[in-house]
Amino acid sequence: MIPAAFEYFAPKSLDDALRLVERHGDEAKLLAGGQSLIPLMKLRLSVPRYVVDIGRIRSLRSIREEGGWLVIGALSTHHDVESSEMVRLMAPLLAETASEIGDVQVRNRGTIGGSLSHSDPAADYPAAMLALDAQIVAASSSGTRTIHASEFFLDLMTTQLRPGEILTEVRIPRLPERSGSAYRKLHQPASGFALAGAAVRVSLDEVGKIASAAIGITGVAVRPFRASGAEAMLAGKKPSPKLLADASEKVADGVEPLADIHASAAYRRAAASVYARRALEAALARAEGEKG
Ligand SMILES: Cc1cc2nc3c(=O)[nH]c(=O)nc-3n(C[C@H](O)[C@H](O)[C@H](O)COP(=O)(O)OP(=O)(O)OC[C@H]3O[C@@H](n4cnc5c(N)ncnc54)[C@H](O)[C@@H]3O)c2cc1C
Repeated sequence: MIPAAFEYFAPKSLDDALRLVERHGDEAKLLAGGQSLIPLMKLRLSVPRYVVDIGRIRSLRSIREEGGWLVIGALSTHHDVESSEMVRLMAPLLAETASEIGDVQVRNRGTIGGSLSHSDPAADYPAAMLALDAQIVAASSSGTRTIHASEFFLDLMTTQLRPGEILTEVRIPRLPERSGSAYRKLHQPASGFALAGAAVRVSLDEVGKIASAAIGITGVAVRPFRASGAEAMLAGKKPSPKLLADASEKVADGVEPLADIHASAAYRRAAASVYARRALEAALARAEGEKG
């Protein structure tokens, strides 16, 4: 299929892009890496009258440190994130997550801003954003606002972003000392999307107890979520195989898992536990070795 006809704009500055999305409102779609939008347009599930290609706005493709925060521009590709020394140093969980997305082609074109804005329930980044307590910055013609990751993902492919807003960057706080992280996922064999994915960050105290744990789960429900019951079970405890197994059993408690041709609800629930346990084990080993 080929997409329906549309008018194409390629602004070179954020201000120009904001003016265009404000002028055309719901009839306009932003185009970043095109890895999700173009297939939808080809299937005519998305039929925008105007396409605003933000790919030429260079200022949106950067990775930098700012006041102790890691700041990643929306147009940074998955490959940029997976291969950045700064990301590996400051937020290795994100580099690991990016390396698990799709295939080489998708990672070379797809962007972090596009993935978060699209908010596919099986996307990988959202789990890491939740586990890292990321902040997401959105710009509009009236200014910018910052949205905590825990409030960003609202429902199936629905986020806090309003018409006329462009996601410009994500901000990741510095990890406490003695922290470790890991992302583990069950891949859908054809696309690589997560049937269940667990992003874990654990921090240890001076005597080796778990000071805090953050577990973001994707692929399981209509939106990604923090496994707060499991996190509470882990906090303040000395890690042991039994503790990790018991906490992992709880990660999908209170959640209604998705069921589709790829996996039943029961299978997704079980997979979430298995992959959360694997991510916890890896994150703890890294925290103990302090290798992120
Ligand atoms: C074969 C294949 C396999 C894939 N496998 C995986 C996988 O395993 N894991 C995974 O997580 N993803 C996967 N993806 C999706 C991929 O990561 C996409 O790159 C991503 O979902 C969208 O990013 P994009 O830059 O391509 O956005 P686009 O397709 O250009 O845009 C997607 C949506 O976001 C909006 N948008 C884009 N940028 C912004 C912005 N800055 N502000 C506001 N709105 C914006 C667009 O208007 C559009 O609605 C796969 C895709 C394909 C084609």
